[in-house]
Amino acid sequence: MAIEQPIVLAACPLCATDGTNARTVATYPELTWVRCDCGLIYKRSELPDPKSTDFYEGGYFGTGDQGRRYTQRRKRRVQKSRNQILDLLNHAAPGPLLDIGCSMGYTLEAARSLGLTPTGSDISVFAIRECRSLGFRAERGELGRMPFGDGEFSLVTMKHVLEHTPDPRAALREVRRILRPGGGLFVAIPHGGYGKSLRHPQRSQFYLPERHGREHFVYYTPATLTTLLASEGFSVKRVNPALMHRHAGAARRLGETLAAPFRAIGQALVDSIQARKEFWLVAVRPEA
Ligand SMILES: [Zn+2]
Repeated sequence: MAIEQPIVLAACPLCATDGTNARTVATYPELTWVRCDCGLIYKRSELPDPKSTDFYEGGYFGTGDQGRRYTQRRKRRVQKSRNQILDLLNHAAPGPLLDIGCSMGYTLEAARSLGLTPTGSDISVFAIRECRSLGFRAERGELGRMPFGDGEFSLVTMKHVLEHTPDPRAALREVRRILRPGGGLFVAIPHGGYGKSLRHPQRSQFYLPERHGREHFVYYTPATLTTLLASEGFSVKRVNPALMHRHAGAARRLGETLAAPFRAIGQALVDSIQARKEFWLVAVRPEA
């Protein structure tokens, strides 16, 4: 006998149409993923998770690594975060930065190394404690209700966060509020058009309850996320990593100039074979 899954999202979070005609993408006894006509993939129904308490505490962050391996991984993550912030600085002026979903503080460390003043926010008490122990300002905050003032930040980064909420519009309205006019938003997020998940959805780590199926609510593509951001008052400036960085040092800028045509071809190739598992996007809150 099939157990009836309670509806978690009765309407598409992007176009608001009722999901009764949405096509099933993957379905399990615990939950069901659908694709709306507008292109958005979202979790329509789900049974309550008996293991859901303290989901985002300790173990979630993979803190089991010890010593050298942890140090190396941390270094790589901070380096990646530096590149992402430099992407953002192509389109918004340097200033106070908020990292939403600050985890173990990789982005905060990268921001500090670039001379910015970083603040972190996270739903996890564990993460906040960790970031504070590293000397950073970090506040516990929920996506739709952040403990920060209007226009307090010039830069906001949200990496692998927006897919975790059933109400992305509330999250983006809050980001827009705390971002000053002209300020920039960087998003990194799983790619709903990832080839492997399109070809074998039922076996995809995106949808399986024992992988990301429980913690995620929505899968975006550059097109659907751009539409969502535009309707919440943002202007999208770039999808995919930047080829050149205005705020990088002179030597690096020269290297980037030489490599740019090859990297552009590489990016087009990766997109054409749907090999991108996550995508990056930079948007701004327009002046006035
Ligand atoms: Zn829709």
